[in-house]
Amino acid sequence: MSEPDTIFSKIIRREIPADIVYEDDQALAFRDINPQAPVHILVIPKKPIPKLADAESEDQALLGHLLWTVKDIAKQEKLENGYRVVINNGADAGQTVFHLHLHILGGRQMQWPPG
Ligand code: 5GP
Repeated sequence: MSEPDTIFSKIIRREIPADIVYEDDQALAFRDINPQAPVHILVIPKKPIPKLADAESEDQALLGHLLWTVKDIAKQEKLENGYRVVINNGADAGQTVFHLHLHILGGRQMQWPPG
């Protein structure tokens, strides 16, 4: 079954512009259009998995690759003082774009608990 198209699929296909900071055969990373921190980057799989809960057993290596990519991008962005990684899964978590994405937030002091 094919997943519905999202704005992130259009970014992958270069149909709408984005400030892309990283790309490989499995993943793409670009700056969030509405940043919540001085550094706010979204890391997405090229495979259109709508949300984390929809990932399947065969996606385990891809999920690991996305986290590994987060680590590399954080280094590239010089976030040596720390950063937060967020996945909003579903409506109650505030997910608005139904293409799995990891938020990297950094460059300021984060608070806990999140809202
Ligand atoms: P969510 O709330 O689903 O976890 O996060 C979706 C994120 O995508 C939001 O932070 C929002 O600002 C970002 N976003 C939505 N549309 C676009 C877009 O067209 N370009 C970029 N770069 N970010 C987007």
